[in-house]
Amino acid sequence: MIQIVQDRGIARVACFCDVCDEEITNADGAMYRWNTRGAEFPVGSRDAPSFYHKGRCAESVARNKNAEGRGEIHPWMELRVFVIYLAANLDVDLERAKESAKRLALI
Ligand SMILES: [Zn+2]
Repeated sequence: MIQIVQDRGIARVACFCDVCDEEITNADGAMYRWNTRGAEFPVGSRDAPSFYHKGRCAESVARNKNAEGRGEIHPWMELRVFVIYLAANLDVDLERAKESAKRLALI
């Protein structure tokens, strides 16, 4: 899950694993998933993404879903593309956003 963490006087955005609850600090080692609730995921459907470390945490989720026998489909993507897709969908100018973040960090 995405959360704001108060960290030594700075409120920072962080991503936590939905299995182990530890902070994900390297996007290359993590993924995000969502639930399509079966084969149908019509246009306009929405679901909050879940975030996982690759390996043991992601495997744990896959085992639990299978054990429940719900037949749900959980597509996943590499976490490293999450921010890029979100920025594109928010029409964020990444260079301008980086400059703004640098200025705000100095306040
Ligand atoms: Zn984890």
